[in-house]
Amino acid sequence: MTDLQLAKYVFKKKLEEIKACKGRATELISLYVPPGRQISDVLNYLRNEYAQSSNIKSRTTRKNVMWAIESLMNKVKMYKEPPPNGVVFFVGTKAIGADQSEPVSFVIEPPEPINTYMYRCDSFFYTQPLEEMLLEKDLYGLVVMDRAEATVGFLQGKRITVVKNKQSLVPSKHGRGGQSQHRFERLIEQAAHEFYVKVAEICAEAFLPQLNNLRGILVGGPGATKEYFINEGYLHHELMKKVIKPFFDTGYTDEYGLKELVEKASEVLADLDLMKEKKLVQRFLNEVRKPDGGLAVYGEKEVRASLENGYLDTLLISEGNKKMRVSLTCKYCGYKEEKTVPEELVPRSASCPKCNAVLEIKTTDIVEEISQIAENFGTKVEIISEESEEGKMLLNAFGGIAGILRYAVNKTG
Ligand code: ZN
Repeated sequence: MTDLQLAKYVFKKKLEEIKACKGRATELISLYVPPGRQISDVLNYLRNEYAQSSNIKSRTTRKNVMWAIESLMNKVKMYKEPPPNGVVFFVGTKAIGADQSEPVSFVIEPPEPINTYMYRCDSFFYTQPLEEMLLEKDLYGLVVMDRAEATVGFLQGKRITVVKNKQSLVPSKHGRGGQSQHRFERLIEQAAHEFYVKVAEICAEAFLPQLNNLRGILVGGPGATKEYFINEGYLHHELMKKVIKPFFDTGYTDEYGLKELVEKASEVLADLDLMKEKKLVQRFLNEVRKPDGGLAVYGEKEVRASLENGYLDTLLISEGNKKMRVSLTCKYCGYKEEKTVPEELVPRSASCPKCNAVLEIKTTDIVEEISQIAENFGTKVEIISEESEEGKMLLNAFGGIAGILRYAVNKTG
């Protein structure tokens, strides 16, 4: 789980870097190769583009585009076949400063399969299909119902799928009178009961196989039937635990009703995502408020020390940390230095203070670097966004790095 969170963070960071590249002309090429695509086809396509690019009027642009395509062909040739999720190349010449430019290239093996082959040459890199992979893909079960009809479906990311629509045979309450009224009402109740049992069966068939992936079940409908259905315990007990409250009023109980349900629930769903982060930071704040500081540690230095001593239970690190961990090593005399600096202050070159030789510079994003150490010590890593008040507080008041200790230790020692 932590690996996934970290992988997502790294992927997001990389995309930001790619997105920030701007060309002086249409000379940034994005190439999406889906799984199953023949490498020889891709190379033929590129050869054709190469031939056509010799017609570009501007000499500089022509040179840059031809270089990019050549470079692409070399990169593509390294593959015998596309990896399981496909591969995306971004190659081109990006503008830096007033009139300088610099060749850039990125190769991304995405976390989810690419669907379509695409070649784009523009003044920016085309990252949208990859950005969509970052959207929340949590799975929810959906039920809308009244006594006449029920529809069961799934919500994943933004996609709604219908599993089943079921009409009931419950007769209308109206339109009958006379002496059989009482008996007729009993028949109605019996038919309604059978309908609810059937709906519960459809839910069980659809949702139980997905139980571990299911983040929750949303329930909606026009009247009181939905409450009755849930409160009377028709639903499988494992599914009952997943039901999200409140229930939502919808006008319809068909496929359109599912859309209504998702729309009405959207605020609640967004809150659920933030809720987890808020709770984590609140747990930390509760410790901080204790007279002796409780189990809380914060600030890079203190957190790093607790981490490396194996004291840290949970690491809370803000996405807003725009810092890099820089390690400087001298190959000649063995001099070594590590420091944390803001992104914009990463040195491009440095010389050894002992022997004056050129130092080897390695930089890692600090969120990545600290998370990696935490994993080595079995510490839980929670990457916190800036979207909640608590998340902002973590960044602004506690330096964006905090933790909760496993047990009380002498923190000054
Ligand atoms: Zn040295």
